[in-house]
Amino acid sequence: MDMQAQETLRSRFGFDSFRPGQLELVDGIVGGRDVMGIMPTGAGKSVCYQVPALMLPGVAIVISPLVSLMHDQVNALVSNGIPAAYLNSQLTPSQQHEVMARALAGEFKLLYIAPERFDDPRFASFAAEAPISLVTVDEAHCVSQWGQDFRPSYLRIASFVASLPKRPPVAAFTATATPRVADDIVRLLEMREPVRVVTGFDRPNLRFEVHQLTDKRKLARIASYALEHAGDSGIVYCSTRKEVEGLHEALVGAGVRATRYHAGLTKAERTANQKAFVNDDAPVMVATNAFGMGIDKSNVRYVIHHNMPGSLEAYYQEAGRAGRDGEPAECLLFWNDSDIATARFFIEQETENEALTREEAEVVRSAQRRRLAAMTGYCMTTDCLRAAILHYFETSHESTSPASSCGNCSNCTDEVDAVDVTLTARAIMRCVHELRGRYGKGVVADVLRGSHNEKVRQFGLTNAKTYGILDESAATVKEIIELLVAGEYLEVSEGRYPLVGLGPRAREAATDEFRLHMKRVRKPAHAKPAKAASAKNVSSTAATLETGEQRELFERLRFLRKQIADGEGVPPYVVFSDAALRGMCVALPKTPDEFLAVSGVGQVKLARYGKVFLAEINR
Ligand code: ADP
Ligand code: MG
Repeated sequence: MDMQAQETLRSRFGFDSFRPGQLELVDGIVGGRDVMGIMPTGAGKSVCYQVPALMLPGVAIVISPLVSLMHDQVNALVSNGIPAAYLNSQLTPSQQHEVMARALAGEFKLLYIAPERFDDPRFASFAAEAPISLVTVDEAHCVSQWGQDFRPSYLRIASFVASLPKRPPVAAFTATATPRVADDIVRLLEMREPVRVVTGFDRPNLRFEVHQLTDKRKLARIASYALEHAGDSGIVYCSTRKEVEGLHEALVGAGVRATRYHAGLTKAERTANQKAFVNDDAPVMVATNAFGMGIDKSNVRYVIHHNMPGSLEAYYQEAGRAGRDGEPAECLLFWNDSDIATARFFIEQETENEALTREEAEVVRSAQRRRLAAMTGYCMTTDCLRAAILHYFETSHESTSPASSCGNCSNCTDEVDAVDVTLTARAIMRCVHELRGRYGKGVVADVLRGSHNEKVRQFGLTNAKTYGILDESAATVKEIIELLVAGEYLEVSEGRYPLVGLGPRAREAATDEFRLHMKRVRKPAHAKPAKAASAKNVSSTAATLETGEQRELFERLRFLRKQIADGEGVPPYVVFSDAALRGMCVALPKTPDEFLAVSGVGQVKLARYGKVFLAEINR
């Protein structure tokens, strides 16, 4: 069975070997077991059900939340010569009828659907007759209310499976890590003792950077980054529609080929902009978090966050859209104080809208505050950024503890000082305790610094025991307060006036072991001295190649790929990934056999593109 799986992977997808976890899941499905795969974005979850779909008789049903996602995945399969189709409301009734008839006739190995299909009685009668080999649930966290993208229609998957005359294996895949969501998936999909595979969450090809910048400098940095990487595709996330509009306009004005996406645009505009991005016509996408779940684009070389998101879960999912092809990619997070204030504001807002009791709302809010604290902790930490992320996700799954220095994040490579601010922090804790959580950051700082301002006098705070015990700038005191909030020693409640009170870990700050360090960046090590990538329109993947000839070849092959893709009406990464193009530049294949040996080249792609690509390589 393993041999057959390997052979399928090689001949149909052109990959030499399975990545960690893939074979175990393939074996599980082919052996008739239910399986659940929890793997980070870009790990290669699709192959885990696509290979079994090819090995098993009949047609695999793939449930996927978004229409756009289906379209791209089917495109990618068809380009590998794998018979696949999708059924959704974008097809006319007669087209739908045709797809089902062809599926019944055994013409497809995979059929993608959205769960909304379960409303259609014609689909129900189709499913009752079709030889269904497997039911795959992609983005399976959508079934859980604890997940970020809950879709009520996912709750109907279990009854759909139960209605089938013969129960096929059920396979669920997600990148969302928490055990609570994982348990929900098993329960709500009524899975039977699934084989569970949880791979590590590390993405070694991603470089992480965090920079504290004013709004104005954020804009300048993003514009210059995009211009320096004009040959690369990237996503820039903003927290509001207004910021998307402003940043998009500024980038276009600066000469960046950018497009935009947010829920305020018409559906037609969103579709057109997404298409321009996926096809590399507008390689830079400026968007809110509404953009991305439906995107499998493998050659996204950078993801920049113009604002800090509300949780590390959201951050890692969004940042993880970079570098799916395994080639080097960068994840940059820019933040400042106002991002923290905005995130606090969102927490208050969201829970107001829901039909929850007051206690329930408070439970939700405190969970959100904890997630926000972890996110701000990531922004402020002086430790390895990768280790911080992995620690956050992996402690819940009992994986091995990550190394403490990765050498590929801004904290590991820049000159970062960790200034010991323990004494100041202790003074702040005492002051907040004394003021009993009734004042905001500004007043706490004023009291500690012995300010004579009106508020302090009016509240009679000049008599406080902690009055005037610190000799620090107000900005520093406020920054250390935020650091204490990130560590959950303090808490900020966001009412009309944000008040600083003691947090769940306040007691720990009073112990002898307590230490607090503040990040000071002495000198950012400029990772990329103006090398090849600074030349206009040269991709950073090409820049990783050794010789000038290889780099030039890469650009020629990229151009050829774009021409072919436009001719066929598919995204360029569907023709060949960046990783495959780089493989060609390194191996310089001369014969069809050598071309086939390049990772990402299968039989069908050899037959389709071998000739033109070999001609270009040998030129
Ligand atoms: P996920 O759904 O987990 O985010 P995908 O299934 O979209 O990830 O795969 C991400 C990328 O990895 C794709 O470009 C895919 O072709 C590639 N990939 C998957 N499995 C392998 C493998 N065994 N060897 C090489 N590349 C792979
Ligand atoms: Mg996927």
